[in-house]
Amino acid sequence: MTGARETRAGFVAIVGAPNVGKSTLVNRLVGAKVSIVSPKVQTTRTRVLGIVMAGPAQVILIDTPGIFQPRRRLDRAMVAAAWGGAADADLVLALIDAKAGFDRDTRAMVERLKGAGRPAVAAINKVDLVKKPKLLALARDIGETGVFSETFMISALTGDGVADLLAHLVGAVPAGPWLFPEDQISDMPGRLTAAEITREQIYLQLHQELPYAAAVETQDWKDQADGSIRIEQVIYVEKASQKGIVLGKGGSRIKALGAAARKELETIFERRVHLFLFVKVARKWGDDPERYRDLGLKFEA
Ligand code: GDP
Ligand code: MG
Repeated sequence: MTGARETRAGFVAIVGAPNVGKSTLVNRLVGAKVSIVSPKVQTTRTRVLGIVMAGPAQVILIDTPGIFQPRRRLDRAMVAAAWGGAADADLVLALIDAKAGFDRDTRAMVERLKGAGRPAVAAINKVDLVKKPKLLALARDIGETGVFSETFMISALTGDGVADLLAHLVGAVPAGPWLFPEDQISDMPGRLTAAEITREQIYLQLHQELPYAAAVETQDWKDQADGSIRIEQVIYVEKASQKGIVLGKGGSRIKALGAAARKELETIFERRVHLFLFVKVARKWGDDPERYRDLGLKFEA
């Protein structure tokens, strides 16, 4: 499949106000229903929304919470972490709602992007809802900001214009080896999402005892004949004492982690899920490239 073609791989940070259509676009780009995880609790690691395979390129879409005028301290911290991720991305893709136009959120986003100094393109989404003259005026306003190298017009819902946008993303990521193993690509978005969900539970239930010391990897994923999914995951910790914390008294903690994660996963995948969690001690997993399948680590704040 790869043959003599030069592979490419990189990260695209998607930025946009709530409801602008980020999830819809990610689903369309990835070409399968993935992982839409609501950004409830943001941890410091970057959230992978989906991985797009387009010919020789692997485009990894990462999330940035859509809050541009943070008021609470927590919101500010989330936004800072998110923009930290954007700063490392090869390209920032700013989504703008055709109907909402150049509103306050969009202006705040543009100001942020000016400061970030990253290559950025804009995509006006929901063009199916708005008449041509209004679109052209909006595109002109966006162009005049001087922040975006290009402005695309798309409908994430109908797919209009999405192929052009994707072609641009493919060209924007650098030449280089794929960042995810080829044999894992087909269900990688699901695997990653599943790992993220469990990691989120670890964070929620144990973060005081286990700060940043755990990584989760989905090792096995089976779509079963009865429509359910069977998922095996390993939680990596760095010390034996941490393994004890994750297991809890008589295995109570890992049971609670599994139960909560399973519930979330069933909501996301809209199927029954059988989740099996294992804990392993892997000293310095953070230095082991193999472990980077659970990614985001690259962007640790
Ligand atoms: P997110 O909050 O940015 O992830 O936005 P969603 O992807 O959840 O989309 C918010 C709403 O906008 C949903 O009802 C989508 O169906 C709708 N939507 C997204 N893209 C389009 C589009 O291109 N055209 C139209 N008409 N609706 C869209
Ligand atoms: Mg969404």
